Amino acid sequence: MKRLKVAVYKFSSCDGCQLQFLNMEEELLQLVDIVDFALFYEARKAVEPGPYDIAFVEGAISTPHEAEVIKKVREESNLVVAIGACATAGGIQALRNWANVDEYKQYVYPRPEYLEVLKNAEPISKYVKVDYELRGCPVSKEQLLLFILQIIRGKRPTLPVSPLCIECKIKGNVCVLVTRGIPCLGPVVMSGCGALCPSYGRGCYGCYGPAVDARAQTLNNYFKELGVRPKDIQLMFKQFTGWAREFKEVVEEYE
Ligand code: SF4
Ligand code: SF4
Repeated sequence: MKRLKVAVYKFSSCDGCQLQFLNMEEELLQLVDIVDFALFYEARKAVEPGPYDIAFVEGAISTPHEAEVIKKVREESNLVVAIGACATAGGIQALRNWANVDEYKQYVYPRPEYLEVLKNAEPISKYVKVDYELRGCPVSKEQLLLFILQIIRGKRPTLPVSPLCIECKIKGNVCVLVTRGIPCLGPVVMSGCGALCPSYGRGCYGCYGPAVDARAQTLNNYFKELGVRPKDIQLMFKQFTGWAREFKEVVEEYE
């Protein structure tokens, strides 16, 4: 069997998504028999040049340099797979799109004049064609593993398409929104996490980003009827994937 030649890239991000490869632990030991991690700075120093079968890309595009590098990644990769909220929706990097970056730079860096940033932090798909998106903050290691195994077997990868409520109901959870009035983004958020938060009696806070055809305004109105405070509604929609088109309108209603 031909080994899959994989590159793992990092752009503006916290490294948490690439770390999920290493978190596979035992599965990773088996995976390296069939996958060549040719470029993966978090795991190894050696780099094998492209082209690559798959480039997994973590992080948002936030600087002019990153905007150039991602084009090269696209050119030398058969498949580009955005992993995690930053890469698929701007993630927490995109929170600065509503803030004054020049002001923030003064607080954080002793020589802010050296920093060159784009006006907005954006998902990978804003700059290049993305073949697949794996959601989450961080991305789920089970989804990563399944994705790679499906590619190796020559199958078209299957990704979640339904909202989290479906996954939550399949698990047999009692709905925290309906029974306890706890705000939960499950009706508008993509499934794939195993309904982790509702399974522990708390509402989904949206790290997987919008589901297909997410009716964010409808849920926003429902939260208002429940008496949820405006700043809490905004935070729920904003914190992980607020820059995603489907959630942005709700976020900006409260800016
Ligand atoms: S999606 Fe979350 S875990 Fe992944 S790089 Fe961004 S902030 Fe880190
Ligand atoms: S707890 Fe949340 S995710 Fe689960 S069914 Fe209720 S609204 Fe949907």
